[in-house]
Amino acid sequence: MELRKVISEALFHHPAKDFALTPVSCEIRFDPLTGKRSRIIPFRSPKLPHHDWTPYVEESRQRFCPFCPENLPKSTPRFPQEMVPGGHLKWGQAVVVPNLSPYDTYAAVTVMSPEHYLPIPALNSKLITESFRASLEFIKLARSHDPRQALYGSIGWNYMPYAGGSLIHPHLQVLCGPLAGAYTEEMICSSRTYLAEKGRCIWEDLLETERERGERYLGQVGGSHWLASFAPRGLADVTAIFPQKCTPEDVEDKDLEELAEGLQKVLRYYEENNIASFNAAFYFARKEDAGFWCHFRIVGRYTIYPVVGSDHSHLQVLQDEFWTIYSPEEMAAELKRYF
Ligand SMILES: [Zn+2]
Repeated sequence: MELRKVISEALFHHPAKDFALTPVSCEIRFDPLTGKRSRIIPFRSPKLPHHDWTPYVEESRQRFCPFCPENLPKSTPRFPQEMVPGGHLKWGQAVVVPNLSPYDTYAAVTVMSPEHYLPIPALNSKLITESFRASLEFIKLARSHDPRQALYGSIGWNYMPYAGGSLIHPHLQVLCGPLAGAYTEEMICSSRTYLAEKGRCIWEDLLETERERGERYLGQVGGSHWLASFAPRGLADVTAIFPQKCTPEDVEDKDLEELAEGLQKVLRYYEENNIASFNAAFYFARKEDAGFWCHFRIVGRYTIYPVVGSDHSHLQVLQDEFWTIYSPEEMAAELKRYF
């Protein structure tokens, strides 16, 4: 499999080098699955400052939180009784409730814990396994309840405000509906086309290529394989591949335990590198979507300035291109030590 990149050079008189004429290289990469572009930006100081969420958390405690246990039964919607008896689906400490602002036919929120705020080190294996299990149960329930409409499921996570999380209280976004997410759809199409044209699974080839090259391969956790993504969609982008799994029904408890174990290694790296916020997604397809393998992806979110700002620029918003200030290979060299 070809991992395509275009390297070019910008030339300028550098103020930090006594205005000597200096070439600085820049790089555009192409996602091996979808062809989507990503730029690796040589940023002046890629180490992020420590971020303290305390003032935001304290302020949020003064406001009403619908997910805190004293409010949840009265303030969250309930599913129709014939779909979820009792209205809320529970697994361990996780509770799945309908999203009051739905953006798909079956749109739910999984409240991960009764605790209002969990810092990254408190996101333990049990909590992650139970919350993803509860979310997966909801997707499977929707798919069996409404096989015509509930075709594609996904689980998303916006941890803390930089990642678009509107509430501090830890929760997952669970969707199921007639259309896959736009990026999932692209991956499903590429998987199908690759299989038809080459008679091989694109995920298997990607994994084989990355294992051979080694510079981005992080390690194996049970049956799952963890990689620094070649064409990052943001900071510290990591992909976990679950071989031979395609639908939500294919994912077993063992897979979720491996997900939690691998994810904790990535989160430890995030914590130690001051990456205070992240987006994550677990992608699934239908059994008709030949060549697709379930995978999980996590991307760090941050702000370049300590107080306010955004890591999304005109490139993501208006060019449909991604960028990062971390080289995937340099990140992988450090992150490998956690695996
Ligand atoms: Zn709360």
